Amino acid sequence: MSDCIFCKIIAGEIPARKVFEDDLVVVIEDIAPKAPLHLLLMPKRHFSNCLDMTEQDEAVVGHLFRVAGQLARERGLSEGGFRLVQNNGADAGQTVFHLHIHLLAGRELQWPPG
Ligand code: C5P
Repeated sequence: MSDCIFCKIIAGEIPARKVFEDDLVVVIEDIAPKAPLHLLLMPKRHFSNCLDMTEQDEAVVGHLFRVAGQLARERGLSEGGFRLVQNNGADAGQTVFHLHIHLLAGRELQWPPG
């Protein structure tokens, strides 16, 4: 989408700290981290959020989770733990309407989230 900031990051039109990229997904460091480690995992294909997804899109969601686990393991988080969060809509705190999963770690995280 032409006015989507994450589509622009994926296309390399806006700078971001990319930590992983393959055919389907890009992972960046969040520009305003809410934990010592705060990554954003996003599909290259534009979806506003999970409300946009169809049966044909299930593989990309599975892939996002597998990449999240891989990055967490590589960063030594498999024992201490980490959180994956995905916001849908303004009331949930979604501010960028390109589906993404937050990976948060490096401090004790509260539950439930605010
Ligand atoms: O779930 P939500 O839509 O609120 O998350 C968007 C996230 O994208 C925020 O954590 C924000 O800091 C991040 N962001 C970013 N780089 C941008 C714009 C937003 O990392 N250029």
